[in-house]
Amino acid sequence: MLRPFELCEPASVAEASELLLRHGEAARIYAGGTELILAMKEGLIHYDYLVNVKTVPGLAGVRLDADGSLRIGAATPHRVLERDPSVSERFPAIARMEADVANVRVREVGTLGGNLCFAEPHADPGALLQVFDATVRLERKGGARTIPLERLFVGPFETCLEGDELLTEIVVPPLAPRSAAVYLKFGFLERPSVGVGVAVTLADGHVADARIAVGSVGPVPRRMRDAEARLQDRPVADSEAALAEAGRIAARASDAITDLHGSAEYKEHLVGVLLRRAFQAALAAVAGSERR
Ligand SMILES: Cc1cc2nc3c(=O)[nH]c(=O)nc-3n(C[C@H](O)[C@H](O)[C@H](O)COP(=O)(O)OP(=O)(O)OC[C@H]3O[C@@H](n4cnc5c(N)ncnc54)[C@H](O)[C@@H]3O)c2cc1C
Repeated sequence: MLRPFELCEPASVAEASELLLRHGEAARIYAGGTELILAMKEGLIHYDYLVNVKTVPGLAGVRLDADGSLRIGAATPHRVLERDPSVSERFPAIARMEADVANVRVREVGTLGGNLCFAEPHADPGALLQVFDATVRLERKGGARTIPLERLFVGPFETCLEGDELLTEIVVPPLAPRSAAVYLKFGFLERPSVGVGVAVTLADGHVADARIAVGSVGPVPRRMRDAEARLQDRPVADSEAALAEAGRIAARASDAITDLHGSAEYKEHLVGVLLRRAFQAALAAVAGSERR
């Protein structure tokens, strides 16, 4: 049963931060509530004060910068990202990933910021956004910092956010020309069991850049730089052999955990399978965009 709490409606980020500072452990940011209210209903956690960020002006919405970067307000629901034309035209991998998060009811209210800040290991955006080198803006009253998204995640359900800090914005830089990103996941429960994001840039028949991130497998979503190195600066025609090695390296580095989704060995195997498919799909996407 849901115990009573006070819903605070701050008018600014500074006011929200002040409320968090004033009430300490008794207060928590509330966005879509799809995780928070569920956990409170089940009696797993309780807060006396929920600080609603959906009413803070400027925290929801999507815009493109002059340099092509996508700026996503932390309180933007998944459903908006799935449907926004600037996302689907310029960042199709993100729109596709968002369209496959949870179900439409969760996507309608659940926000990207809530997804990242909850740091549930079985989630999609944290892995895909890392192959774009996304950054996050963290703000508190009187200060702000911008960090790479990968540094936000500290452990399962744990981020580097300070008690009075809010995530306010996610910034996604565009990929270089002749690039494509693909995210593939596999799962048979509500949330993903394994997710692999890949971004590839081609130049003169070579893989000029390859970025790989794995999510849902270990405690946090991670970039796989050693695996990336196996694919970079190689002729595209030679990438098949390197893919098997990259898959093995990524599987080992993902710190796979045995849980309800499957054994660590099973997840490691899937990392290799999804990495190969995602890489090949990204190559095909670059080729396809050049034929158009
Ligand atoms: C049935 C179901 C299926 C799901 N399936 C998937 C799936 O397939 N893939 C996937 O990726 N996810 C999945 N999810 C997770 C879903 O994406 C998240 O529930 C949702 O994005 C959380 O956003 P929210 O706004 O509801 O967060 P809330 O529940 O409001 O908050 C979650 C946490 O983040 C904190 N928080 C929220 N916003 C901020 C902020 N701006 N700054 C600081 N802290 C903040 C809150 O204090 C809280 O601790 C699923 C969830 C459910 C319930």
